[in-house]
Amino acid sequence: MTTIIDGKAIAEAVRSEVADGVAAFAEAHGRTPGLVGIQVGDDPASEIYQRMKQEDAEACGMVARRIQLPAGTSQAELDQLLDELDADAGVDGILVQLPVPEPLEEPQIAAKIAAVKDVDGFSPGNVGRLLRGEPAHVPCTPAGVMRLLSEADVALEGTRAVVIGRSVIVGKPMALLLIAANATVTVAHSRTKDLPALAAEADVLVVAAGRAEMVRGDWVKEGATVIDVGTNRTDDGLKGDVAFDEASERAGAITPVPGGVGPMTRAYLLVNTLAAARRRVGDDS
Ligand code: NAD
Repeated sequence: MTTIIDGKAIAEAVRSEVADGVAAFAEAHGRTPGLVGIQVGDDPASEIYQRMKQEDAEACGMVARRIQLPAGTSQAELDQLLDELDADAGVDGILVQLPVPEPLEEPQIAAKIAAVKDVDGFSPGNVGRLLRGEPAHVPCTPAGVMRLLSEADVALEGTRAVVIGRSVIVGKPMALLLIAANATVTVAHSRTKDLPALAAEADVLVVAAGRAEMVRGDWVKEGATVIDVGTNRTDDGLKGDVAFDEASERAGAITPVPGGVGPMTRAYLLVNTLAAARRRVGDDS
């Protein structure tokens, strides 16, 4: 019997925990945690993501603000805004919606956001702390995946985990978190040889390649946990990186797309923002 891991329901529980935490924070510190989202240019998808993040934050009682800058904004102009937000005591979390239009470049932005307010967890400071096993803002998607694994009672210690994908926002931090949980981790990528055979060794298979339904049923070990991070828009609608029907015949537990990892990514931005607010005031409740 395959368990379908219900990311939507688990994310709802996470949001409710955050809302309770926000209320307690406001009571203790006399202000509510604040999140600022910056969008450069007018990409319609970015606009939707920014609006969703603002609505999510407001729904759990945070102050959420969106700042829209014109396409063509220079790094110096963005730096000035980031400095102002860094100095603003009411702002706990800052995120810049990616991708950004030229002449901006993501590495410069990630390096500029103050690590303590970097709720996406992309800054070198947070990436380094995660690598070192020190407290850090962890990127929302892998943090959300760890919560899904924990809610599904997936034991990680000593298990064989395979992560497909090596991006800075998903694959690499995912591997680090699984290592920290004492799994034995292999990271696969576009140049990996015989990927189906490697994937079939995994007790826990996390897929973040951005290739619709790439992972077929026979790539999945009997009883494995399969976490599908992929979100691919196809003519047949939104598809994950895993062929769900085939894979769920063999998996012990599996996330659907939609309704698996996506809602957790949204929820963990809220977790990180509340954590940022608490860390800034030395509140370790
Ligand atoms: P990316 O393009 O930055 O990285 C993709 C990775 O997959 C690369 O490391 C590449 O080496 C690897 N890869 C590509 N093709 C491969 C193949 N054929 N075989 C093996 N490895 C291959 O993407 P990303 O930002 O890490 O995102 C990955 C997927 O996850 C995308 O579909 C993205 O939309 C999705 N995503 C979903 C969420 C969510 O909340 N559900 C969040 C972030 C990303």
